[in-house]
Amino acid sequence: MAETTVPLLDASGQWTHRDRHRHHEFAIDVPERTVELRARLSWDPLDMGSEHEANSLALTLWGPDGFRGGAVRRGDANDLVIGESAAKPGGLPGPIQAGRWVLNIDTGLILPDGAEAGYLSWRLEASAVVGDRTAVVEATSTSAARRPEPGGPRWYRGDLHSHTTHSDGEISVEDRVRGAVMRGLDFLAITDHNTISHHAELDGWPDGISPIRASEITTFHGHMNVFGLATAIDWRGDRRGSGPAAIVEQAHRQHALVSINHPSAFGDPWCVGCHWDFARADYATIDAMEVWNGRWAIPETDNQGGLALWTDLLDAGFRLTAVSGTDSHSAEEDAYVALPMTYVHAADRSEASILDGIRLGHVFVSSGPLLSFRARGSDGREVSLPGDSMGAGGRVDLVVDVERLEEPATIWFVTPGSTVPLGAGDGGQIHVTSDGLNANGWWRLEVRAGSAANGDMLALANPVYASAG
Ligand SMILES: [Zn+2]
Ligand SMILES: [Zn+2]
Repeated sequence: MAETTVPLLDASGQWTHRDRHRHHEFAIDVPERTVELRARLSWDPLDMGSEHEANSLALTLWGPDGFRGGAVRRGDANDLVIGESAAKPGGLPGPIQAGRWVLNIDTGLILPDGAEAGYLSWRLEASAVVGDRTAVVEATSTSAARRPEPGGPRWYRGDLHSHTTHSDGEISVEDRVRGAVMRGLDFLAITDHNTISHHAELDGWPDGISPIRASEITTFHGHMNVFGLATAIDWRGDRRGSGPAAIVEQAHRQHALVSINHPSAFGDPWCVGCHWDFARADYATIDAMEVWNGRWAIPETDNQGGLALWTDLLDAGFRLTAVSGTDSHSAEEDAYVALPMTYVHAADRSEASILDGIRLGHVFVSSGPLLSFRARGSDGREVSLPGDSMGAGGRVDLVVDVERLEEPATIWFVTPGSTVPLGAGDGGQIHVTSDGLNANGWWRLEVRAGSAANGDMLALANPVYASAG
């Protein structure tokens, strides 16, 4: 029997700078026997001066059962196609219920023009393909969390931040996984913006690399990676004046972790919401912070600023785990040298074990050098994993080893109010023994290039908490 296409919506208009940072919702009534839904958002102008000065909108689709797809792409048009058994990347395939659905446009950037009268013409179209139902294909179950993984307790390394064609990346999931295997990663989180459609491609990865289910929750006031999520998160309650509590709550309800991304990066108009701007956030509820995004010394990312914010939070008594991510969007970006990897000490390579390791702070981040230590507190207790605790306050005897150093570097001992060098080397390895260090609340290790305390970061360990408990 023939299929017919039924128009559902054809809306257009103009928005100005004042309409930015809003969620504009358009209801559509989806008819019975719909086998495919199509929506397309286009706008003009796009280019307002440069690659990083462009008007930016994103389209998402919400059905009676919740999130059904996101088109968060670069360019001057975003389109979504979802069918019962297939969807354009970004969308979730599955049965299409008749009834009220919502198309949402996030207006990320509508830039003022030279006359201070920024405007943007937009058009949103939607249609349904109605016909006989094809056999409903069961949604692919993502069994990543339960897949038994070999390994045993040791350090596992991976990338916790990457993008594909399911949002604004230029690389397929398959090619991204192949590249990760070639780089020797044990785990990989694909964190496409405001979707989980890439989760359907998590089965069938090669042995040796574990998928971490993840999504970069991308709001106007901050970006957060959520790790270990099974269902999509609704970010549309974001308000600058409030915290991200509603997002954190949705993540924790499904035992997923929340990590603040690149908190000191340039925000609008360079990158929508990339700077962490939530005026109130309950940091006791945030699990991690990405203190190293991409290459260390990129001014627009300001990793040093992110590290300073994280250190302030440690001083205030919060225990967010420092993590890293490449934030790679392409094969070309994968090839950059000195990208950070996140090393997690875990019981095995499964998603559940990797996330437990992150929860415990058993993490160091590094662009290559391997960092290990043995510490003994004044109460005689020994600690050899970041994130663990030793006796309250007092003095620390420390043995530190750094291997696979490819350039002259210095090991720094950082504790509230002081940063002291422990030792240096010209490459290869450094072995340092240091007795009677003063630790105050927490201490941690950094390995930086050269001899200055602000040299490029090569490796950074999470703190040992030298406090009661
Ligand atoms: Zn981001
Ligand atoms: Zn990202």
